[in-house]
Amino acid sequence: MEIAVAAPIDQTLTYRLPVKISANPDGDGTISLIGRRVLVPLGGRKVTGYVLAEDVVASGEFKIRDIAEVLDVKPVFPCSLIALFRWISNYYHYPIGEVIRAALPAGMSPRSVRCLELVDSAREDERFLSLPDEKWRITLQEKGSLSAAATKELLASKVWKKTIQQFIKLGVLRLCESVTSDGVKEKMEVCYRLQHWLPQPSVDLPDESEIFQHYRRQLDAELGLELKLSEAKTLYYMKGLEEKSVDGTSPRKELLELYAGAAKGICDLKEKRLVTEQKKRVFRSPLGERLEFFPAPTELTDEQNVALAEIVPAIEQGGYTPFLLHGVTGSGKTEVYLQATAAALRQGKSVLVIVPEIALATQLEAHFVSRFGEQVVLLHSGLSASERFDQWSLAMSGEAKIVIGARSAIFAPLNDLGLIVVDEEHDAGLKQDDSLRYNGRDLAVVRAKQQGIVVLLASATPSVVSYHNALCGKYRLLTMDNRVGNRSLPKVTLIDLRKQQSSGKRSLFRPQLRKALEENFIAGRQSVILINRRGFSSNVLCQECGTPVQCRDCHVTLTLHRSTQQLLCHYCGYSVHEKTVCESCGSMQLVPVGFGTERVETELQEMLPLARVARLDTDTAKDRKAFLQTLKLMRGGEIDILVGTQMVAKGHHFPGVTLVGVVWADGGLAIPDYRAAEKTFQLITQVTGRAGRGDSPGEVYIQTMRPEHYAISLARTHSYRHLVEKELELRKNPAFPPFVRLVAIHIQGESEQDVERSASRIAAACRAAVKEKKSFVEILGPAPSPIDRVKKNYRWQVMIKAASIEILDALCSYVRQNQQELVSGRCKVMLDKDPENMM
Ligand code: ADP
Ligand code: ZN
Ligand code: ZN
Repeated sequence: MEIAVAAPIDQTLTYRLPVKISANPDGDGTISLIGRRVLVPLGGRKVTGYVLAEDVVASGEFKIRDIAEVLDVKPVFPCSLIALFRWISNYYHYPIGEVIRAALPAGMSPRSVRCLELVDSAREDERFLSLPDEKWRITLQEKGSLSAAATKELLASKVWKKTIQQFIKLGVLRLCESVTSDGVKEKMEVCYRLQHWLPQPSVDLPDESEIFQHYRRQLDAELGLELKLSEAKTLYYMKGLEEKSVDGTSPRKELLELYAGAAKGICDLKEKRLVTEQKKRVFRSPLGERLEFFPAPTELTDEQNVALAEIVPAIEQGGYTPFLLHGVTGSGKTEVYLQATAAALRQGKSVLVIVPEIALATQLEAHFVSRFGEQVVLLHSGLSASERFDQWSLAMSGEAKIVIGARSAIFAPLNDLGLIVVDEEHDAGLKQDDSLRYNGRDLAVVRAKQQGIVVLLASATPSVVSYHNALCGKYRLLTMDNRVGNRSLPKVTLIDLRKQQSSGKRSLFRPQLRKALEENFIAGRQSVILINRRGFSSNVLCQECGTPVQCRDCHVTLTLHRSTQQLLCHYCGYSVHEKTVCESCGSMQLVPVGFGTERVETELQEMLPLARVARLDTDTAKDRKAFLQTLKLMRGGEIDILVGTQMVAKGHHFPGVTLVGVVWADGGLAIPDYRAAEKTFQLITQVTGRAGRGDSPGEVYIQTMRPEHYAISLARTHSYRHLVEKELELRKNPAFPPFVRLVAIHIQGESEQDVERSASRIAAACRAAVKEKKSFVEILGPAPSPIDRVKKNYRWQVMIKAASIEILDALCSYVRQNQQELVSGRCKVMLDKDPENMM
C-alpha cells in the first residue's frame, strides 16, 4: 500500500495490510482501501496514514511494515482527489500527508461507526422476542437501532457476541456503517405541510383580530371547513410561511415564533388531516434564520445568453475548458453560475462554487438553495466541527450535488464534478496565508484540468494575471459589459485632497462629499463609506504632490522604520534616511499617513446625529454573528451609512445604496506590493459597484491626493481593460507576474541575529546556485518583512523571481533539502509560492 502519513515527511511510504486485518471486516468481497485512513507505525509511534494506492511494488531493501489498524470502513475522500493532493505537495513544496490533513475537515476525526439495527421485516421474529429483557434488546425493539457506542460494547461482550452474530446471519439484525463523528447533531427539524389548497387570506382589514375571524369565515365559505379560531389562525400563518419557503413547508420554530398558539392549533389540524408533519433539513443562515427565497428571473439578459451559449455546451461536451468571465458589477454573474450549474446537474454531474469570503458564501447559498434546494451544502470554517463534517459527508456520499464554500472547499469530496465556479477570482481571500499556502482559484484550475471539466473564474475586476491568461488564449474570455435592466454604472467624481480646505474645522470629508451624504440621508437612501486603510501609517507621503517615497529599483513604496530612522524597500533591501526629499517634486514635506475607521465613524455621527451609522472592519468582524447581522441590517435598509474597510466592497448586494464615498483612495497605492495599483483599482471599482444596484442610480465620490494616478483615473471611468494594458506594460520591467513567477522565502525566529544570518545564507546559497542559469532568475533580498516582528518572532524574507517555474522549483527544493545547514538556531523557513500577501 502506498500511504501518506500525517507527518512532515515528503515521500509517501509503503506498508502492507497483514492477513489478520480484513479491509472489509463485515462484508464479503473486497473493497478498496484507497481514500481510507489507517494507523501505521512510524519510528516508535503510530500515526494516521492515508491510503493513496494499493498495488505498489516497493523499491529498495526496506523491510515493509504492517498497517496496525484500518480506521475507516468507507473512504473519507474520493480517489479523484489524490492526483490533486500529489500536485499540491509538489507545487507548494509541502509534505503530502500534511496536505491531506489540511484538506480534510479540521478539528475532528472522521471515522466510520457501526450501528446495530433490527431489520424491519423481522420485528415480530419469535426467536428475537424470546431473548431475555436486556436493555439493548428493548432499545432495538423500541427504536429499531443502537448507538455506535452501544453496538461496540455489545459486540465486545463475551456473553452476547455469538448471539448477535447468529441473528445477523439469520437476517434479523444487521450492522449498518456510516461515516460520522462524535457529537454530530441531527440537522433535521420538524416542519409542517398543508395538505389542502387554501385561499389567499385578505390582509387589508384594519383590525388584526378581524383578519383571523375573516379568514375563518372565508375557509368555511369556500371550503366548508368548520374551524376553531386557533386553527384558522395557524393556517393563516402557515400560508404566509409557505409563500416564503423554498419547498412549501413551515418549520415549527418559525411558526411558534409568529403564533405561540400554533402548538395547539397544529395538533387539531393534524387530527383533521389538514396538516402533516415531517422532519426535514431546514436551510438556515449562520444567524439561524431561514434563507431568503429568490425566484428565477423571467428571462436572461443578452449578455448572459451569450456567455451561457459558450459555457453550457462546454459542460455538455465535457473536457477541460477554463473560462474567465469579466462581468461588471451588477451584470448578473450569479445567474450565469446558476444556469451553468443547472446544465451540469442535467448531465448528472456535481458542482463546486468557491468564494473568497463566508459572507458571500451565505449570500450565494440563498440563491442556490432557492433554485436547487436540498442538493446544496455549505462548507466553510465558520461552521462548527460537526456541522462541517455533516456537510462533508453529504458531499462524499453524493447526496449533495452542489458545494459552496470558502477556499478550503476546493477539497470538497465531490465525485463526478462537472463544473467549478470561482467567484471574485481576483480576491486575496482565496489565498491561504499560513501553513499550506495555496490559492483556491489556482487549485480550481488544476482540479478542473485533472478531472477534465469546466472551470469558470469570474470577477468584475479579474486579476491582471488571469486576464493575461485570457489574452494569451489560456482561458476563454467572456465579457458582460452592462448592468442588468439597463441600470447604468454609477457616475464617479474625484475630489482632489491637495486643494487646501477652506477655513473652519478640518474634516475628513470635503464639502462635496459632505453635501452628498447629507442629501442622501435626508432622501432616506443608504450610503457606503470606504476607508482604504492598508499601509496604515507605515508609509511616507509627500505633502505637496501626494507621491509616496518609492524604491529606486522596484515599483514599490518604501516602508518607514521608526526605530532605525530608515525608509526601507522590502523587496530588495534598498534604504534611505527617513529625512529624504520627494523624488517627483523635490519637496522635503514628507509625512507619515493614516487614520482609522473609528475616527470616520465618529465624524459621521457628529455630522449626521440622526443617521444610523454602522462600522465593518477587522475589529468588528471578529464576531462573526455581529458581522453577518450588520450585513443583514444593511440589506434590509436598517442602516443609513455603513463605514468600513475593503470588507464593505466585496460583492455584497445592497439594493438600497445610492451613494458611495471613498475617504482616501490612495492608501493602497502606498503598500509595498507590485500589485498596489491593481488592488487599488479593484477596490475602488468593487466599492463603486455597491452603488445603484437597485432601482435608483448611484453616485460615487472619491477623495484622493493623486487624482491623476492611473489606478484612480481609470477606476473613475470604469476602464478595466486600460488598467490591464498599463499594468502589463509596467510589469515587463522590472519584471513581475505574469512575466515571471515569484516565490517568497520567509524566515522567522525569536533571535533577530539568527533570522538575519539564516536569511543571508539562504539568499547567498540561492545566488550561488543560479549563477550558471541562462534563463532569467533574480534573487531579491534578504530584507526584513514589511511587518518585521510578529508575536516575538523576527521575520525576514528572500524573494525569488524566475521566468521558468522549473528553476523556481529547483531552488525551493534546494533550500528545503539543505535547510539544516542554511538555518541557524531555531529559525523556521516557509515557502510561499505565488505570494499574495507581501507583508
Ligand atoms: P453581479 O454578481 O454581476 O454583481 P448579481 O448577480 O448580483 O450581479 O445581479 C445583480 C442583480 O440583478 C440581482 O438582483 C439579480 O437578481 C438581478 N438579475 C440578474 N439577472 C437577471 C435577469 N436576467 N433578469 C432580471 N434580473 C436579473
Ligand atoms: Zn512631491
Ligand atoms: Zn527595492
